[in-house]
Amino acid sequence: MEDRVWRIIKTVSDMYEIDLERFRRRRPFELLVAVILSQRTSRENVRKAMERFNRRFRDVEDVANARLREIEDAIRPAGIWRMKAARIRKIARQLLKLEGGLDSILKKPYPEARKILSSMEGVGPKTADVFLMAARDEPVLPIDTHIFRIMRRLGVADERDDYESLRLKLEAVTPPHMRMKAHLALIEFGRNICRARNPKCSQCPLAEICLSREGCSNP
Ligand code: SF4
Repeated sequence: MEDRVWRIIKTVSDMYEIDLERFRRRRPFELLVAVILSQRTSRENVRKAMERFNRRFRDVEDVANARLREIEDAIRPAGIWRMKAARIRKIARQLLKLEGGLDSILKKPYPEARKILSSMEGVGPKTADVFLMAARDEPVLPIDTHIFRIMRRLGVADERDDYESLRLKLEAVTPPHMRMKAHLALIEFGRNICRARNPKCSQCPLAEICLSREGCSNP
């Protein structure tokens, strides 16, 4: 199984040029907001919402003191804006009360940092992992819905797997320095080739080892 998982990770990672620097251009709070906004929406919607958010708000304090309506208006393109705005303001207020704010969390070891972040409303283990990966190159390989689907179709994940077990399975074969690229490349692969509907199996370099080609419109 490990050889199989590695072949998938390596093949997909080699398919895409990924701009890893794009995260490093963002400040930590901005990154956290972007990761929360990315829940259940497209990358393009997050980009539009972040442009508006950055035009309106300068820092955590600004967000913590804002009226909910202002945050909702700023992030509207990202969808489910009422819930996301309430969570973002609540997190901003929590961070303001925390000595050292988000920077202090980023200095903590991974299990502790992840636990603190996951205790905030709207930040589950996946959001915490994506944030830590992007904000400080934490060598984790977060699992999103694309990655779950790909791994199920390729026989790596089964019905017993959950977020943690699949993450550990992929991390076990992926060297730490390759995990961020693997995460981002797998998402690209899920968006462009192994799509939820009508996967492009005829263009897939993993077709010969794919156990589940059900749903392929062009097998
Ligand atoms: S063959 Fe089709 S279903 Fe299988 S991994 Fe490739 S795109 Fe996905």
